[in-house]
Amino acid sequence: MQTNLAQSAGAVAQRGNTAAQRESGAAQPAAPRRAASPLTSQTPAAPRRGRIVQTDAAAPPFRFFNSQLLKITQLTPTMRRFTLRGASLNQLADPGFDQRIKLVLPTAGESAAAAVEELAAASDWYQRWSEMPEAVRPVIRTYTTREVRHCDSAPELSEVDIDAVVHTPAGPASRWVQSAQPGDTVWLLGPNRRYSGDSGGLDFVPPPVTMWHLLAGDETAAPAISRILEQLPKAANGIVLLELPNPADGAYLPHHPGFKIFVTARKDAHGEELFRLFSQNFKVRAGVTERQDPCDIDVDRELLWEVPRGAAGGAELQSTGVYAWVAGEAGMVKRIRRYLIRDMGIDRRSAAFMGYWREGRAQD
Ligand SMILES: Cc1cc2nc3c(=O)[nH]c(=O)nc-3n(C[C@H](O)[C@H](O)[C@H](O)COP(=O)(O)OP(=O)(O)OC[C@H]3O[C@@H](n4cnc5c(N)ncnc54)[C@H](O)[C@@H]3O)c2cc1C
Repeated sequence: MQTNLAQSAGAVAQRGNTAAQRESGAAQPAAPRRAASPLTSQTPAAPRRGRIVQTDAAAPPFRFFNSQLLKITQLTPTMRRFTLRGASLNQLADPGFDQRIKLVLPTAGESAAAAVEELAAASDWYQRWSEMPEAVRPVIRTYTTREVRHCDSAPELSEVDIDAVVHTPAGPASRWVQSAQPGDTVWLLGPNRRYSGDSGGLDFVPPPVTMWHLLAGDETAAPAISRILEQLPKAANGIVLLELPNPADGAYLPHHPGFKIFVTARKDAHGEELFRLFSQNFKVRAGVTERQDPCDIDVDRELLWEVPRGAAGGAELQSTGVYAWVAGEAGMVKRIRRYLIRDMGIDRRSAAFMGYWREGRAQD
């Protein structure tokens, strides 16, 4: 199993609250806000809640959201945008950057939709979900909120965009991406705008002063990288290295005046071309420490999810020369992690590595 809720729980335990706790709706103490950054000060560091939303530390940090699929837009050969609309989405918190949400997909059968509704109404939904027989247990898959549009004056017009890829071999989410139709009911699990603390699920946490950003990954990381580029201030700078399935997919990425963007089309094995991009374009900058042992992770047995935060790094570090954010297929991320830490000597306190999925393995 890769990146399921239980594993995520273990992987993020170092960050304070576990994902299972947060995403099951149990209230957690509010996390301290990070200091405003010269380079990121224009970027929201906490959910934008608008004028009329009253927050409450006892509200569940993560909750279910019911919506309707409004439209599907084919953005590039690989990237497909799903625009969801619904009154409940007015309560979806929007910290931005790489905020993750879960798509909750009913299994087949007449009672499948009712099973999701029952879970959504239960305060102990995670417990119930884990105890459900596999045949009826809704499938939960992780995606990124590409854009959230709250409409406080008419909540039923609130919307969220999710950009997703069709992949082979297909899984339940990829099948949904291929077959969904406007008008379909779509359930999400996501951060609650009413919760006054940190709901979790945001892993782009650069130090307040970051001289240079390195953003890298595959097509599953492209929505997060795009949103990060849109939200970083114009004064920020860095490089994007991305491997995408099709040469025309490069059009997906937004322009940022301070970033050089290198996109390569996949040719052979997943990640080969990205690695080639690294060796051709990644120049070591300030912020590099001595070369270290990366302590390799067995990505077929463990979740690769290394996001420094708290006293050990991330936003708690005052400054860094380089902040690296790398996400995508776990074997590819492992190889880049080793290259950056062992060969390039990147300071691992300011480098986040996330295995979003693992080749040959379903997410649950
Ligand atoms: C934090 C986070 C954010 C993410 N954001 C996005 C996003 O915004 N958009 C997006 O499209 N994906 C995103 N993903 C990746 C997505 O969750 C996975 O691709 C997921 O496995 C898809 O579920 P599935 O049911 O289609 O396939 P699964 O049932 O999980 O897997 C079935 C098979 O498909 C393979 N597989 C899974 N994903 C891919 C892929 N992308 N390419 C090729 N083979 C694959 C698996 O190895 C397995 O063999 C994100 C993942 C994480 C953890």
